[in-house]
Amino acid sequence: MFGVKDPVLRELHKCVAYKFLCAGCNTCYVGETSRHLSTRVRKHLISDTACHIFSHLHNSPQFRTLNILNQASTTFQLKIKEAIHIQWEKPPLNHQLYHVNLKLSL
Ligand SMILES: [Zn+2]
Repeated sequence: MFGVKDPVLRELHKCVAYKFLCAGCNTCYVGETSRHLSTRVRKHLISDTACHIFSHLHNSPQFRTLNILNQASTTFQLKIKEAIHIQWEKPPLNHQLYHVNLKLSL
């Protein structure tokens, strides 16, 4: 049986929180984008020289994986979800300051 809707390629997802995992050293990076994921990945790999992930990926070109962690319907939700993943995982490559500083008190 065929689905009603064609599945969207991962690269064409928008408004997602994502995680890069470096197979060489197991370090990771969590980010978010409201654009197509492929556009953001290309920026990480080619032009976003100020980002820590750029220099890491250029210095260790081993195979790496990219996973979508979460999707959101608004930019605000997306930034909250990214901040939660950063709090949970404490990714070593997230030295940038463009995420919402979220304190969880449970
Ligand atoms: Zn690495």
